[in-house]
Amino acid sequence: MNSPRHDPAHRTLTVVGGGVIGLTCALTAADAGWRVRVLDAGTDERASWVAGGMLGSLGEGIPGEEASLALSVESVRLWPALAKRLDDPRVVTATDSLFVAASATDLEYLRHLADFVWAGGPRSESALQPITGRDIRTLEPSLSSRLVGGYRAIGEWSVDNRRLLEALRATVATAGVEVISARVVSLTDLDDPGPDSQILLAAGLGTTALWPGVELHPAKGEILRLSRTRWSVPPPGHVVRARLHGRAVYLVPRADGVVVGATQYEAEGMTDRTPQAGGVADLLADAIEVLPGLRTYELTEAAAGLRPCTADGLPIVTRVDARTVVATGHGRNGIVLAPGTAERVLSILEGVEE
Ligand SMILES: Cc1cc2nc3c(=O)[nH]c(=O)nc-3n(C[C@H](O)[C@H](O)[C@H](O)COP(=O)(O)OP(=O)(O)OC[C@H]3O[C@@H](n4cnc5c(N)ncnc54)[C@H](O)[C@@H]3O)c2cc1C
Repeated sequence: MNSPRHDPAHRTLTVVGGGVIGLTCALTAADAGWRVRVLDAGTDERASWVAGGMLGSLGEGIPGEEASLALSVESVRLWPALAKRLDDPRVVTATDSLFVAASATDLEYLRHLADFVWAGGPRSESALQPITGRDIRTLEPSLSSRLVGGYRAIGEWSVDNRRLLEALRATVATAGVEVISARVVSLTDLDDPGPDSQILLAAGLGTTALWPGVELHPAKGEILRLSRTRWSVPPPGHVVRARLHGRAVYLVPRADGVVVGATQYEAEGMTDRTPQAGGVADLLADAIEVLPGLRTYELTEAAAGLRPCTADGLPIVTRVDARTVVATGHGRNGIVLAPGTAERVLSILEGVEE
């Protein structure tokens, strides 16, 4: 489908959705000279608000998902420039990740990923080093002495997703973007500022109601927030991604604690955001097994979010008519993919890519 090349003096963009995708796209477009406004329905429905904040490229490498891994690797390369643009030292919480195993079988699983995907997949900027149990304790002394080994992914970052949203909102404001609290019920209700106006639909799961051809399903996930007390060991300095008796659990550092995540299963519907006791119990038990000192942390939040997923696991970033572009379906990787998607959206808006 042909897209118009817009007159730079009159290019206006309305972004529907103020999650990580909508705000990052708004910032990239504003920096390229577009006049941008964002309409957003609020925090309650926002996957970006509950997320863990891992910028996983190597860590999200799963056999059969090479195309998704390639997108993550490409987007990870853009993250340092985005972090610099945001200019908020509280956003990035770790620059390396540890993949750790609790048993020989778990270690074999990590080796399989390393051989099959990490070594043979798309080239990543991150470097992967095998580590022993002893190395784990040198790097993170408070992790369990029962961990047998794993890998260190140097350059695999994490961010504080809530600080990220705050920093994005502050930065788009200084770039002249207006963020308006509003639920868009129909695109025909949007006022049309002129022939060169464009709409970006970046409403996460909410996109299906606004553009019915976009099919998404919600993958629910429980996730916990723990804060250290004065009796606690400090939070880890790395993202810790553990394989524990066949299950996965991750610990993502925050300034004052950790985020522990995350379960993943089909939700009952588009509003099923109440955490289940079983998911919370498993995450807590596994996290404490990995870092026993978490026992003295306070459990400050148990939440569940809905990942906006597509059938093929790849995000939908495409023009759907002469005035409308869609960017949604980022599944479990929306934070890592945000700068890559923002570049693709800008190319589509400017007619460089369809
Ligand atoms: C438990 C969990 C852990 C995760 N961990 C990670 C991780 O570690 N790393 C990672 O990269 N990703 C992670 N994700 C995935 C990531 O959170 C999502 O892919 C990402 O947030 C999607 O961003 P989005 O902006 O498309 O959607 P959302 O964040 O859901 O934002 C959509 C926005 O659109 C607004 N909206 C909806 N409908 C309308 C409407 N009609 N009008 C106006 N506004 C509307 C909503 O209010 C919301 O603010 C995780 C997700 C979950 C649930």
